Amino acid sequence: MTTDIHHLKRLVRELEKIRGTGTQLISLYIPPGYPRGDLSSMLTDEYSKAGNIKSKQTRKNVQAALQKIMVYLKSIDYKIPETGLIIFCGNVSPDPGKSDIRLWAVVPPQPSPKIYRCDSTFYLDPLKAMVKPSDVYGIVVMDGKEGTVALVKGNTYEVVGRVRSLAPGKHHKGGQSARRFERLIEQAEHEYHKKLAEVIKKAFWDIRHDLKGIIFGGPGPHKNEFLNADYLPNELKQKILGVVDTGYTDEYGIREAMEAAKDILKDAEIMLQKKEVERFIGEAVKGGLVSFGVRQVYEDLKLGKVEELLISEDLEAWKGTFVCDNCGHRMEIVDTSREKIESMEVRCPLCGSPMRLESVEDAVEEIIQLAEDTGAKIIFVSPETEEGLKLKKGFGGIGAFLRYR
Ligand SMILES: [Zn+2]
Repeated sequence: MTTDIHHLKRLVRELEKIRGTGTQLISLYIPPGYPRGDLSSMLTDEYSKAGNIKSKQTRKNVQAALQKIMVYLKSIDYKIPETGLIIFCGNVSPDPGKSDIRLWAVVPPQPSPKIYRCDSTFYLDPLKAMVKPSDVYGIVVMDGKEGTVALVKGNTYEVVGRVRSLAPGKHHKGGQSARRFERLIEQAEHEYHKKLAEVIKKAFWDIRHDLKGIIFGGPGPHKNEFLNADYLPNELKQKILGVVDTGYTDEYGIREAMEAAKDILKDAEIMLQKKEVERFIGEAVKGGLVSFGVRQVYEDLKLGKVEELLISEDLEAWKGTFVCDNCGHRMEIVDTSREKIESMEVRCPLCGSPMRLESVEDAVEEIIQLAEDTGAKIIFVSPETEEGLKLKKGFGGIGAFLRYR
């Protein structure tokens, strides 16, 4: 069973590549405390339902996978870990005539939902969401009367402040001149804006470097009036990712803004990727403090030289360990092609004897781990943007801003 986040990320990548020849790959998400009886009768049920599958090959594979899952659950005595259990099982043989039923059991880092899927791919979205670091951002929803400030982490939010305007009601009482009344309202509004700005600063200033951004919401134009006036320091204003319309200015409004935030954050993420790849290319062109190519970046990471790592989401990297049987010297070579490593003829740099390839492993996980261990900022770059393509084609899918040469 796998629990470590890096292992899980790697597993997700591995499982994503698997395609069933029919709808025969099973994804089973078991929530914590799921009763043994329910689980086993559900699987027995699915087993008999699978008997109706028309394709003989698919039927055989689905039933074999279900059987394997039941055997596995029996082997752990149906003891579901605290966060639940996720099982992926199915025929992974690329040859439709052959059968190679494999099973992966994963202890999720967060409580598992209850899902059963049988499809031509494994259903990975819920697991992916669990291993992805959650976005941290701020939300302010406001109108002329009330403002609510919240800090959002992934799918959860915490209200960190609420401010209400003390402006008198719209209808002025007798005895006051209209002008004086007008001024009272203006003053109260100014006080309200100042107070709201204080709450926003208190909530976000100290953590501004960790915030993905701030989103403003609320009904009507009041939020824009607030933003156009100079209540917030520029550094916080620059963090504003978007202004959205919401119906409410309380917790409902926060939840409305969180919905709208999904697309805004995605766009902001792509903008950041583009900006950083452009900056990287600019440095690379003028021979600045950068390195690229998996082999060079791997070496720089090991020396702790990397300040920021740009890594293509679909980067492949393999590490071959070579051993000299003559003098015992060992060395590692990293490359994007597994085949290339396997066909390398390497001579020992110490004694000149031919070296033997001892093992080849996936190196992407180690690269990410090295970056995290040395405090390098990591930016995953989608290969689907023009900039992502440039990083891939021109720099081998990986680039680094260095701390020193
Ligand atoms: Zn040697």
